[in-house]
Amino acid sequence: MFALYVTNPHKLQWRYVGEAGHPVGEEVKVRPTYGGICGSDISVWKGKLPHADYPVRAGHELVGVVVEKGERARYDVGTRVVVLPNTYCGECEFCRKGQTNICEKKRSLGVNMDGVFSSEFVISSRYVLPVPDDLADERAVLVEPFAVVVHALGKVGIDKGTKVAVVGCGNEGMMAAVLARYLGADVTAIDVNPLKLETVKTIVDVRTFTYDTLPEEKYDVVIEAAGAASAAKQAVELARPGGHVVLLGLVNEATFPVVRIVRHELIIHGSIIYQFPGDYMKAIHYLRMMPFPVEQIIAKTFPIAEYEKAYEAAASGQPGKVVLQFG
Ligand SMILES: [Zn+2]
Ligand SMILES: [Zn+2]
Repeated sequence: MFALYVTNPHKLQWRYVGEAGHPVGEEVKVRPTYGGICGSDISVWKGKLPHADYPVRAGHELVGVVVEKGERARYDVGTRVVVLPNTYCGECEFCRKGQTNICEKKRSLGVNMDGVFSSEFVISSRYVLPVPDDLADERAVLVEPFAVVVHALGKVGIDKGTKVAVVGCGNEGMMAAVLARYLGADVTAIDVNPLKLETVKTIVDVRTFTYDTLPEEKYDVVIEAAGAASAAKQAVELARPGGHVVLLGLVNEATFPVVRIVRHELIIHGSIIYQFPGDYMKAIHYLRMMPFPVEQIIAKTFPIAEYEKAYEAAASGQPGKVVLQFG
């Protein structure tokens, strides 16, 4: 099998690593179809994630096909699957409550354990989920990043007419806008980059503003998806009294107007990835049901042989997701 390695910060290599081996017990062997390049893949590549190990096999957003199965595997050969990129122990106090996303022993594919950008790989069927026939691969590759916003929006009640502001229209922000709109919210998308706002507008009906054109308005729910200290502070300033702020971006530190939070009883939520399988199943459900052309979030698809170009494109700050095509 071949696999894409981040051998050291700034160094990628698609290389032969021996046979993938045969799946045993509940394992399956998966042949990747599409893999999405995520912000965390770029951070590992750039050497910016302190908990990353090197060398590490890259990648965690993936749709593929089961090509071989162990005797107790849950899924048959030919099943299309998406991968859960974070392991959980199933035994700690958080896992026992279904909070697999904050498991004490959580490890992350492509960060501190081998990822899935490869010609094939063997994985426990506990960490894959089947994709229904009516969900095309081009949408299914978005299940993992979409599950992040399913989890985040699940923390607050969003329905018809809820005023939602999304601060930061990277891929997660765009998906948050799409889901909030589908749930009936009145959505305002905010970004410094007008190109990102244009992209989100081609997908879903939202109001868009750059920071300097933003009207004096307050929102029931503010989603911070920019991952910048200034955006986190602004998210707090945009919430109406009694409103909710959901922080999705991983900012090391930010300054907040505490008096505003206290006087207006703002509710601040931190949201990290998703719970498995619940949020994944909801993500699959929404991606099937939503009439919006969500797959247009994919800006460009590169064959795996052009992995270097693909990483450069994903790191460029241009709107949309970059996807690798395998096989
Ligand atoms: Zn991701
Ligand atoms: Zn656990």
